[in-house]
Amino acid sequence: MQQEKIWLSPPHMGKNEQKFIAEAFADNFIAPLGKNLDEFEEDLESYLEQGVNVAVLNSGTAAIHLGLIILGVKAGDEVICQSLTFSASVNPVVYLGAKPIFIDSEIETWNMCPVALEQAILDGIERGKKPKVIIVVHLYGMPFKVNEVSAISEKYNIPILEDSAEALGSLFDGQKCGSFGTISVLSFNGNKIITTSGGGALVSKSKKIKNEAIFLATQAKDNAPHYQHSQIGYNYRMSNICAGIGRGQMEVLDSHVLARREIHVFYKTLFKNISTVLLLEEPDNRFTSNHWLSVVLLDDYEKREALRLEFDKVNIETRPVWKPMHLQPVFKKERYFGNKIAENIFERGLCLPSGSNLLEKDKKRIANVIKAFFN
Ligand SMILES: *Cc1c(COP(=O)(O)O)cnc(C)c1O
Repeated sequence: MQQEKIWLSPPHMGKNEQKFIAEAFADNFIAPLGKNLDEFEEDLESYLEQGVNVAVLNSGTAAIHLGLIILGVKAGDEVICQSLTFSASVNPVVYLGAKPIFIDSEIETWNMCPVALEQAILDGIERGKKPKVIIVVHLYGMPFKVNEVSAISEKYNIPILEDSAEALGSLFDGQKCGSFGTISVLSFNGNKIITTSGGGALVSKSKKIKNEAIFLATQAKDNAPHYQHSQIGYNYRMSNICAGIGRGQMEVLDSHVLARREIHVFYKTLFKNISTVLLLEEPDNRFTSNHWLSVVLLDDYEKREALRLEFDKVNIETRPVWKPMHLQPVFKKERYFGNKIAENIFERGLCLPSGSNLLEKDKKRIANVIKAFFN
């Protein structure tokens, strides 16, 4: 008989999600408007600190789309994007008719390489196409090299759109990820550190940007008694039901982060004596990862696939690392700067089950596969 499935990163509900949903029903605010929305935004604002303003939306992708619009990206513009990421980081660039320029990873955090970033900017300037925005990602919850990337952003005066979809609860130098960008983005998809079933947020230090995001997300209605529009709008606001789930999830966010960090320690112990396996770890004490997913590098592609299939045989879900965007058929014509670091990580990398609700008995099953495989 097949054993129960162990998922990579399943939803994990707390106590009060259904209570907040019930309140929305009691108030009859079954709409993209209401108390849960306001409260969820306040919860996120006080969690992220730094005086940020948060607009909750119906996906992280929508937040990136609106973020690029607010930062002034137009058709024909060029936007810099980390290559090693999920396609949602870059698709909105194409929605706007702009062109992505892909940047390789550095080996320590697997995020945007500052050296390749500066090369790409200089190349753009030389071609008369200075990039409009830098989209940079905290992949798997590991903060990117915030100080180095920010220094380049300031030097060339190009704003950062911080894709913090995987990094709610991570910190760099004591500051929460999701508060570093001119605009930052969170995701509450079903597999993320907290979920609203589907959802996202646009974060900014500017109240004006928050208001603009909400305006665009609710069909860009001008101030008039009738429906009047001077701009193209979108239907991107979060529902008050989903925001109720979000309020419940905020109560357990800290414990979810703790649980994922403990799972990371579990893997670290497990792989301690297997010298051919490399676990993605915080490079130094400025980096605090929520360890959304624990990820390992194996010798090569064959070894990685062999281990993935061993897990699959016993109904344990693992997943190859994101395939870099510059290798995706849909983006293969776009510019790329780097030295194939992301390609190497993709070939050798495997994401391991990391859900905050992973049980002790699940850990035993995972450990058994690993011990058998490396013996
Ligand atoms: C999940 C994710 C997104 C998109 O968020 P959705 O809410 O699924 O639209 C964007 N970037 C990264 C890196 C992600 O992991």
